[in-house]
Parts: sequence; C-alpha cells; structure tokens
Amino acid sequence: MICAYCGQEAKGTKEHIISCAILDLFPECFATIDSIRGKVHLGDPMLKDVCAKCNNNRISYIDTYAKEIIFDYFVRKYEKDDVLNFAYDYTLVQKMLLKYAFNDLRSHKDDTSFFTQNILDFLMNEDIVEPLRNVTVLAGLAVNTSPAPDYMFGNNKIRWGKNPVFLSNSIIEHLNYETGEISHRSENPRQEFKKMSFSYVFRFNSGQFLLICWDGDISDDDLKTNNVVLQCQYPYTILSSQGDHTLSRCTSETTYHFEMLIDVSWGQGIFDDITWMRGTYLDESQQYLKEIETLWQKEEGYLAKRFPR
Ligand SMILES: [Zn+2]
Repeated sequence: MICAYCGQEAKGTKEHIISCAILDLFPECFATIDSIRGKVHLGDPMLKDVCAKCNNNRISYIDTYAKEIIFDYFVRKYEKDDVLNFAYDYTLVQKMLLKYAFNDLRSHKDDTSFFTQNILDFLMNEDIVEPLRNVTVLAGLAVNTSPAPDYMFGNNKIRWGKNPVFLSNSIIEHLNYETGEISHRSENPRQEFKKMSFSYVFRFNSGQFLLICWDGDISDDDLKTNNVVLQCQYPYTILSSQGDHTLSRCTSETTYHFEMLIDVSWGQGIFDDITWMRGTYLDESQQYLKEIETLWQKEEGYLAKRFPR
C-alpha cells in the first residue's frame, strides 16, 4: 500500500474518517448511516491507506485539537437565540476540516487533486502555523428549532457531505402573514463562486462548519468577492487568524434536518417566522419538547451503555 500522506510503501493502518476521539464523545450515536451507499452499520467509517508513522505521529495532533474544541464548545446543545464566544486556532481548524474532507474523498475514491504536496505538508507538519490562503472556513450553531425532535431523523449528531447546495435565494418566496400561506420559490439556482474547487459541510452535534477549498491560482480579487458573498448572504461567521468570533444559529427548522442545504440569511428569517406562526416557540410547545427531550436523553444514556465504544 502507498501511504496517502507520505507516499511511502508501507502497511496500512486504520484511519477513522472522523477521528475516533470525536466519535467517542457521542457513544449514543452507535450506528453509521451511510446515505450515499444506502447502508446502516455498526462499524465506524474508516480507511486503511495511511502508514503507522503518519497516522500515529504526523497527523494525530490534528485529532487531539479537534477533540478539544468539540468537547469544549459543541457537546452541549444551544437555544435558538444563543450567541457563542468561540475562541479557536484558525490554522488547526483548517487542518481538521481538510483532514476529514481528504479522508472522505479517499473513501469514495473521489478526486483528491486539491491535496498537492503543499497541502499534505501543511497537514503533516505541526510546525506549520500559517493558515492556507485558498481555504475559507465558516461556522455557526446548529440548533433544532423545528417541532421534530432529533431522534425522528436518526439522531445523526455527526454529519458531513461534499458540495452542499449554497442557495442564491430563499427557499420560501413568500409568506402571507395574514393567512400563513407559504409559496416556495420555483427556481432557485445554486450560488456560483469563481474558482471553487469543492466544499464540505460538517456537523459536530451543535457546531456546524463549512469548508471551502478554492483553486490554488484564485486571484485576491476573486477571493475577496467570494468571501463578501459568503459573509453577507449566509447565516455563518467567517473564521480567520483573529481566532475569536461569535457564532450564532445557522439553521432553520428545515435546514437543521437537511444540512446539505445552505439557505440564505433572509430565508432562515422567513422560516423562523413560519416556526413562530406555527406556535413552535410558544412556552407550552417548548415545554412539551423539553419533556420529550428529557426522556430521549435518558434513552441515549441507555444506548451509550448498551453499545460501549
Ligand atoms: Zn505515511
């Protein structure tokens, strides 16, 4: 086997697509739901094309950091209007998302040409602390504002997918505030971005990240334009070397359950109005939801014991 990182001939070791340390934080999510292959299984999603030296020595620092920030910020749930003060190491966040995207691409035998020697060196060397210029990362909080509890959709706390749909306009075209009538937008093309190589969405329980990889030769102007559109049009925060930002909710009652749909900020606002008109935010409704969630948390405790990692 040729190691995916160092390119040396060696015996392959097991490499988790999303690090084992992160999966360990959510033992109640014991099944892997692979919607691309249409399978559900009990094993963790894994690869076997990384040598022991790379896996255990060169790239493991990334997983150590990933576990740390997910444990610190995203094991807990948030409320709809919560704002999180998120302090992070931008270079390590880039490395973490790139590593998981690279793993996922290899597991689907997809195109990995973005991962040039330069990018692989970036991942393999803990000493490289300068972030990559042609990678943009956005983050937000995933909060269930829908009337449907998490378990109704499979309790998928860890989710990821390639090329989520960045919508160019709101899913709902019009909401009649008198009658509650909703009209969907019939045509809603994807937002185009110049020189986008590929993108990924990652959900780690209450933390949601978008990784955008631009072609290496993207001009400063195009990069700037793309980032302005991303910043203004979507309910996410762009992360940067500043390392300290506030994150707020990036999901609506719809996009919470369909993480591959990236609705525009005003689209999320319309969904919030629908949720409000439907009465989901009423104290009474919230109380029922809390009761169900408390029962579900008990069940999760039981599942975590029954399927130890
Ligand atoms: Zn190697």
